[in-house]
Amino acid sequence: MLQKPRIQLLKSFTNNHICTEILRLDEMHPVISGNKWYKLKYYLEDAIQQGATEIASFGGAYSNHLVALALASKHAGLGVTGFIRGEAGPIASPTLVAAMDYGMKLVYLTREQYQNKEAIEIQYQATGRYFVAEGGYGALGVQGAASILDGFNWESYTHMVCSVGSGTMAAGFLSRLAPHQQLIGISSQKNNASLKNAVLHFSPSEKHPQFELVEDFHFGGFAKHPPELLAYMRALWERESLPTDIVYTSKLCFAVEQLIAANRFVTGSKLLVIHSGGLQGNHSLNKDMLPF
Ligand SMILES: *Cc1c(COP(=O)(O)O)cnc(C)c1O
Repeated sequence: MLQKPRIQLLKSFTNNHICTEILRLDEMHPVISGNKWYKLKYYLEDAIQQGATEIASFGGAYSNHLVALALASKHAGLGVTGFIRGEAGPIASPTLVAAMDYGMKLVYLTREQYQNKEAIEIQYQATGRYFVAEGGYGALGVQGAASILDGFNWESYTHMVCSVGSGTMAAGFLSRLAPHQQLIGISSQKNNASLKNAVLHFSPSEKHPQFELVEDFHFGGFAKHPPELLAYMRALWERESLPTDIVYTSKLCFAVEQLIAANRFVTGSKLLVIHSGGLQGNHSLNKDMLPF
């Protein structure tokens, strides 16, 4: 079902001092693209092993996680329920329409209800229903994210740079990092004081100095996409034929360029940027906003 991802040289991110390449997870599958499939695969296995007949999880109206879960559950022959943050609007988002197409049942929660997911899990506990945490955060999600690195020569890089939402993917990379490598996470959120620890939680303390969380590139907050971000996305497409999403990967690439310009990386650095997918989220924009 999934293609092996390719690695693309980013010429305009490369100079005499450093070389930058990007792992194109976005090309693997139009819906289950990016990190979501990896984060979910061990949960699905675990659910099946436990005899579950249905998966349930949480997310917002534009959640890449929920739409990937919907399709992955369908392929696995499992029923699926999505608990959605916020009341149902007059029209469902393209993400939720797709999720429903794949068979996901939706339950809308108020913001207050959404705060207390444990209560929801208890209320909706049913025989055969298996809950996956929001964003796939948890040990099995981290293990699955780490498997993104299987099968290619990731140890040849000095730095890996990825975006950070729940922190699951970054935690997976940190758990695998070799001693000579650094992981830089670019936060997609504004002011989330617990995010760094969410990443560090799954690795022994000796590894913690190898991780840095950069929080200056949220462009106003989670999922905010001001005109200057969209202009950057168009320019990046022109320069590198690289499509990015408005929530994570555009901010990631922007941050990498800024860090390079600020001489954050010593001469000889070799960067691997992770394109974690998410392009389906761009459907929330008007059609003529982006050239890809
Ligand atoms: C979910 C997502 C992330 C964030 O991954 P976490 O494991 O939640 O930190 C990054 N990029 C894209 C495109 C995503 O969909």
